[in-house]
Amino acid sequence: MSHDHEEHVREHDKPLSGPALRVKALESLLVEKGLVDPKALDAIIDLYETKVGPHNGARVVARAWTDPGFKRRLLTDAAAAIDEVGFGGQEGEDMVVLENTPKVHNMVVCTLCSCYPWPVLGLPPVWYKSAPYRARAVIDPRGVLKELGLLLSEDVEVRVWDSTAELRYLVLPERPAGTDGWTEERLAALVTRDAMVGVAKVLPPKAAAG
Ligand code: FE
Repeated sequence: MSHDHEEHVREHDKPLSGPALRVKALESLLVEKGLVDPKALDAIIDLYETKVGPHNGARVVARAWTDPGFKRRLLTDAAAAIDEVGFGGQEGEDMVVLENTPKVHNMVVCTLCSCYPWPVLGLPPVWYKSAPYRARAVIDPRGVLKELGLLLSEDVEVRVWDSTAELRYLVLPERPAGTDGWTEERLAALVTRDAMVGVAKVLPPKAAAG
């Protein structure tokens, strides 16, 4: 038995926690009432676990870096531009893309819960959903960024954007130096999830490799 599988079995032996138990109960009820097809649920979970993720957003960012016309469209009508690249869909209908510059750094939070642009970033990471991030990103954004390893100089303005169920944000990070003439594909490989949430920068190729 592989290690992963052993872990998996052990997980099953554990009693479910409160929220997990409620989800399980709710799922059983919906299936029993014929309101939800368990196969459809599995397909949705598989979609977000394996197909939709930050690599989608990275493609959008890389295209904006290489195609000024696309960048203009992305900053004026994000949902339509993202749709052009093929990443529309649920939880991404109303999107705003925020451009980072040497003078302005944008960072995204959902103070209320965990609203997040699914089609371009996949499911939110645990820290994004955590109470400390949600509370402190607004009160002390610089402090939070510093703890996450991003030290911004005092002359950089930090703008914090609060996502809602209606409006979700994607940060367009600055294109790093040393990438002149790079293809969209090569650039996309540099772009991280954290840079698109605005808690990191896209590192130049050397730093990213080492
Ligand atoms: Fe939310």
